[in-house]
Amino acid sequence: MSSKPLYYSHPACLEHDPRVHMPGHPDTPERLEAIERTLAAEDWLEWERREAPAAQEAQLELIHSPRQVREIRELSLAGGGAIDPDTFVGEPSYRAALHAAGGACEMAKALMAREATLGFCGVRPSGHHAEPDRAMGFCLFNNVAVAAEHAIRELGARRVFILDWDVHHGNGTAEAFRTRADVLFASIHQSGIYPGTGALSDVGSGPGEGYTINLPVPAGSEEELWLSLIEHIVLPAAQAFAPDLVLISAGFDAHREDPLAGCRLETDSFAEMTRHVRDFAGGLDLPLGVVLEGGYEPASLADSVRETMRALAGSEPARSAAPDAMLTSRAAAQIGHYWPL
Ligand SMILES: [Zn+2]
Repeated sequence: MSSKPLYYSHPACLEHDPRVHMPGHPDTPERLEAIERTLAAEDWLEWERREAPAAQEAQLELIHSPRQVREIRELSLAGGGAIDPDTFVGEPSYRAALHAAGGACEMAKALMAREATLGFCGVRPSGHHAEPDRAMGFCLFNNVAVAAEHAIRELGARRVFILDWDVHHGNGTAEAFRTRADVLFASIHQSGIYPGTGALSDVGSGPGEGYTINLPVPAGSEEELWLSLIEHIVLPAAQAFAPDLVLISAGFDAHREDPLAGCRLETDSFAEMTRHVRDFAGGLDLPLGVVLEGGYEPASLADSVRETMRALAGSEPARSAAPDAMLTSRAAAQIGHYWPL
């Protein structure tokens, strides 16, 4: 048994390189290299490092269609090619994607077994845009969705809460659980950018109505608004949902230095968001696992990951943010229809 937080990674995740097909593509191995160099310089913050195993295809098929899994495997084995104008598969990509999803599953397994209460998966390619039947947006398989479903079907979790703070809407995760009441999915994202989904009015459907929380924010949004939404909308809903596992789809592309979007979070903003989620999970004695998504400026990405991990394992109290007058009240009216806020 280990009480140290767990960090999952695998060298295969450094091999996936979309620049082979599209020079200048922002999803570079340097993103992960910068994270690993930064953490290594500080002895991995004394976290326990574990190797991310390859996912079984049956695990991927908890979320994805067998056809999608087969097509990506075959494209990769054939040397690779384009899936869409943003999304590329190379010869090493299938293996990288297996270890990315496998790391998330293995983290969920260790957390559900209470080998640790905190985990971080430093893996790529990222996953939150990958829909059950479609790879897109740099994502091949939906790592966090596969891990959540693995936890529910095979690890005894009854309800999983997923917070997606990547600056882009986590459309793939939303679609995977759109009609489900056993996964609460909350996404904060910049409105008007890729992939264009995630309107406040989209709350899930059928038995899943109310179990999708979409909080689009305007370009230029700063820490105060993001914190306000987490503190006053997302976490009260999660509290009422009463999950037994908390996962964060953690993109760091809402950072002000990020080239792909226009939000203005600081490095410490991610730590501040983390403290809120950590205190929520800790208060209910819930395990909390983080899965890397986007973040395309390597230096600020690496610093933000380090500060997120520090905040996860730290005890500095979260700073309360004032409810944002306009957006929080508009969101509260929508989400408050389903959850006591
Ligand atoms: Zn993103």
